[in-house]
Amino acid sequence: MALLEIEGLHVEVEGKEILKGIDLVIEPGEVHAIMGPNGSGKSTLSYVLSGREGYEVTAGSIRFDGHDLLEMEADERAVAGIFLAFQYPVELPGVSGMTFLKEAVNARRKAAGEGDIDAMAFLKLVRAKAKGLGITDEMLKRAVNVGFSGGEKKRNEILHMAVLEPKLCVLDETDSGLDIDALKVVSDGVNALRDPARSMLVITHYQRLLNHIEPDKVHVLARGRIRRTGGKELALELEQKGYADFVEAA
Ligand code: ADP
Ligand code: MG
Ligand code: MG
Repeated sequence: MALLEIEGLHVEVEGKEILKGIDLVIEPGEVHAIMGPNGSGKSTLSYVLSGREGYEVTAGSIRFDGHDLLEMEADERAVAGIFLAFQYPVELPGVSGMTFLKEAVNARRKAAGEGDIDAMAFLKLVRAKAKGLGITDEMLKRAVNVGFSGGEKKRNEILHMAVLEPKLCVLDETDSGLDIDALKVVSDGVNALRDPARSMLVITHYQRLLNHIEPDKVHVLARGRIRRTGGKELALELEQKGYADFVEAA
């Protein structure tokens, strides 16, 4: 069974149709990349997967791990194992990173019929994962993303992903604003999470991220639809030719 199955998805934002018939199937263990020009609807797709308000599905379906995703609330989706790392990570003033993570971990455990995680075990787990991502104890104590630099926010998102161990990771332009070193840290963190039971959807405008995170499939999203699908070589072709072939004629 596919982990994610999107069929004929149409989405409107403020009365304007942005996604115009998306079909996408991701099997367990696969890493898919979505590339495309600015404004093509990439972030809209990630927001629809997250269940954000204001994104109206007018046609089509999304099945996730055997469930009708569109019937689920945003928090239910997270508990079911979808994780989204957004282009602009949200700040949560007043909520420390540790508290936020612990609640998220316990919500998932509860859904699986397990009790709360042991406090010491949790601390050990977070510290071990944070170390590999260059995240200090001081950062963990601070409010989530508040006052973090762009690179720190992205690393923090990967930490949350690593601790929560989701079934589907969606990364929306996680590479934007990262220098080469931060890109390497983030990519290594993502690659460490690759697993035969876990799928990833990597959304990016640029090919360079895909030098580090090797996709099984690459899709070009333009003008609200997937216009082409190929292997990782398609990303290299796009790097050379740009998106001119896919952008609406002026
Ligand atoms: P991408 O991530 O590929 O750059 P987006 O999904 O962010 O593209 O945006 C796709 C289109 O939807 C753009 O034309 C954008 O202006 C429009 N759009 C996105 N969000 C809104 C919104 N809240 N209100 C109106 N238009 C929006
Ligand atoms: Mg954009
Ligand atoms: Mg975007």
